[in-house]
Amino acid sequence: MREFYSQVNRKIYYIAMLLNIILMISGLILSTTELNGIDFGYIVHFLCVMFLSVCLWIYPKYETHTFRKIIILFGFAYFYTLFFLYPQTWTTYILICLIPALSILFFDLKLFYFSFIINGILMVITFSYVIFIDKGKLYTYLHHDILGNIINIIAVQALLFFIFHLSFKRMKKQQLYYEQLQQSERLKMVGQLTAAVAHEIRNPITVVRGFLQLFKEDDSFDDSKKSKFNLMIDELNTVEQIISQFLTLSKPNGDQRLEKVDVKDVLQSVTGLLHSYAMLSDNQIDIKVEEDCYISINKIEFKQLLINVIKNALEASDVGKSVSVIANRNNNFIEIMITDEGSGMSEAEVKSLGTPFYSLKSNGTGLGLMICFNIVEKYGGEIYYNSSKGKGTTVTIRFLSESGGIYTD
Ligand code: ADP
Ligand code: MG
Repeated sequence: MREFYSQVNRKIYYIAMLLNIILMISGLILSTTELNGIDFGYIVHFLCVMFLSVCLWIYPKYETHTFRKIIILFGFAYFYTLFFLYPQTWTTYILICLIPALSILFFDLKLFYFSFIINGILMVITFSYVIFIDKGKLYTYLHHDILGNIINIIAVQALLFFIFHLSFKRMKKQQLYYEQLQQSERLKMVGQLTAAVAHEIRNPITVVRGFLQLFKEDDSFDDSKKSKFNLMIDELNTVEQIISQFLTLSKPNGDQRLEKVDVKDVLQSVTGLLHSYAMLSDNQIDIKVEEDCYISINKIEFKQLLINVIKNALEASDVGKSVSVIANRNNNFIEIMITDEGSGMSEAEVKSLGTPFYSLKSNGTGLGLMICFNIVEKYGGEIYYNSSKGKGTTVTIRFLSESGGIYTD
């Protein structure tokens, strides 16, 4: 929503509010003649105008739900004060009919219902007052055709309800579209950036690997050194593979070899790989995997997905806590659940997951989950985050189960 309050919108808001404030102050000045000087009613009117003006003016600095509620309540106080203070001015009746429209200004659904209910109650009280106490002495225009007025007021409320709902829906759709556009723009930018950086990293790696291969053949190095060269070459191969993964991000249709993958095998190799990482903070990874769970996926990408998610779970866990990894078959699906008892996340934080560069870690990149979500989507899977702040997180990853033979795409 915040994006919609751009500089231009802000300017329009302040101009509209200035006009409103001028109108309210003019009303206040005019009413001195009607009320014969400054009495209690005038002071209430004056205070309502002052509080409402200040609140409307400073609202863009405090765009909270509570602050909006305060403005609406002052709006109620102001319009009903006008209605009861100046019974001869029948147009105040129109103003109280339109109070729920104030929440259209804020596009806040809860606030709209709140003002709708409050106005309903106040209207019942007002009409009861006009019928049973005033009996048409001051409010002749209302009492004269009480039924007609009640029907009209219900019609106005129904109209407001439809106007608000239709425009609210349209606004939400537009907001969603705007967010998606921003997300795809960011993804495009990340894709181009990673492609450029990855390409630049590849060249020096090729040179280093070439030298290592030469040293490996060189007899002046002993066997223990040569085995270390092998290790270094293997590590460089892994780096190359990761770079290729990054490059596929910017090329969405790059071919990927599909394989029938044994989930148990992959989970064991991934947890084995992360074992020493977990030991650094005295964490453990408990795995419980059902036999014969197969899915059709690119093995490297599947590993990359699991490494990212389990690593996040370990990083969120306190010293000594364990992370559990469970995989089982559920109808036609293979479900993998990674649970930690770590820091957990709020609803807003969960919503931000997968956004490029979203990271709450001092040394995080905020790219891990973006890549994970991309992989899951690519293979038609699903990933859900269920998290509770301070208690922990469960990540559920689901892929269609595969029972056929090994094949390549
Ligand atoms: P990075 O790990 O580099 O920060 P990620 O995309 O992997 O980037 O994760 C983004 C953010 O999501 C993390 O910084 C962390 O705040 C949050 N996060 C992800 N998984 C968990 C989890 N299991 N528990 C708590 N927070 C998590
Ligand atoms: Mg991560």
